Amino acid sequence: MSMFTAVEMAPRDPILGLNEQYAADGNPKKVNLGVGVYYDDNGKLPLLKCVQAAEEDMMKAPSARGYLPIDGIAAYDNAVKGLVFGADSEPVQSGRVATIQAIGGTGGLKVGADFLKKLTPAAKVLISDPSWENHRALFTNAGFTVESYPYYDAAKRGIDFEGMLAALKAAPAGTIVVLHACCHNPTGYDITPAQWDQVIAAVKAGGLTPFLDMAYQGFGHGIQEDGAVIGKFVEAGLTFFVSTSFSKSFSLYGERVGALSVLCESKEEAARVLSQLKIAIRTNYSNPPIHGGAVVAAVLNDPARRAVWEAELAEMRVRIKAMRQKLVDGLKAAGVKQDMGFITSQIGMFSYSGLTKDQMVRLREEFGVYGTDTGRMCVAALNSKNIDYVCESIAKVL
Ligand code: PMP
Repeated sequence: MSMFTAVEMAPRDPILGLNEQYAADGNPKKVNLGVGVYYDDNGKLPLLKCVQAAEEDMMKAPSARGYLPIDGIAAYDNAVKGLVFGADSEPVQSGRVATIQAIGGTGGLKVGADFLKKLTPAAKVLISDPSWENHRALFTNAGFTVESYPYYDAAKRGIDFEGMLAALKAAPAGTIVVLHACCHNPTGYDITPAQWDQVIAAVKAGGLTPFLDMAYQGFGHGIQEDGAVIGKFVEAGLTFFVSTSFSKSFSLYGERVGALSVLCESKEEAARVLSQLKIAIRTNYSNPPIHGGAVVAAVLNDPARRAVWEAELAEMRVRIKAMRQKLVDGLKAAGVKQDMGFITSQIGMFSYSGLTKDQMVRLREEFGVYGTDTGRMCVAALNSKNIDYVCESIAKVL
């Protein structure tokens, strides 16, 4: 009898579980489309040139590792503000954005959730149906009741926008609404700019608290284009939260580089909010690690290096789009009769393929092609070598 006797085994993380199954699969043709990671055309995780160059410079002038300030590297936080809001934007110029360096986008969400729990303890959280798995768990763990608003419409192969809007309009004032700023995970479907206007009007009229999760800025249409939704919220005169992740856009998954920005009404208010965010950080992990933040700051704050990053990010974005087209063409060539053109109207890393759980299981067991049971496939893991095999395999289970 130990104090842990009653501890139950937690269910396996569905995606990490898939990885383990993939690793154990002896099929030489196996393809992993399960995880949300970008691989290059050789199936390799890229080390961006801008990152390598910044690291080489850092190694030439090695420095001791003191503690960072609780909110992280100032030059990093400023670069994040510029990226998210625009360096010359009114919110940044007037100093009413509170930004902290976070441990990945997940850390940004968690610090925001902890701060919100203290500020509005009775609020409910609404996430999209479906959403990134961790949204529900993270806000639930922070003490919130989490519910969802309609998002994906399987029959329509698109978004149930009327349902989404109706749910937002029906939500009580103060409800925290988690919105994917771009490249919706897991579906790949984003709402249009005109639909964003309607969402913003509903959020404003209903007194809701928007929490924008921007884990893929630059993976959709471009850095500015993907960030444009933030500008819309600013224009509407709202205060809101934005979490940022550089895991994908810098291919720095394991360095855990992210941020949380809170747009406040004034500079003075932002200072008070920042002081509270720091308490959330201090009581969770004290202060962030140096390396990833230093690399991202060194790239974003150096115009030449930043240009290299923007080009490398564009290359990833363009390759994903090309793979979407190849998938549509390849499925047709493999004899699939139904129109799979919806795959090219999706954006970002993922595609909700419309395949059923049974079809996904067959893909895995008979062909070694791994996606989630929901039919989600990571398009960013397709390449010129595996695409034909994936198309033929899908054609066989459809
Ligand atoms: N939000 C969404 C929608 C994501 O897809 C991810 C990463 N899969 C994150 C947040 C978390 O990003 P990070 O790995 O930087 O914590």
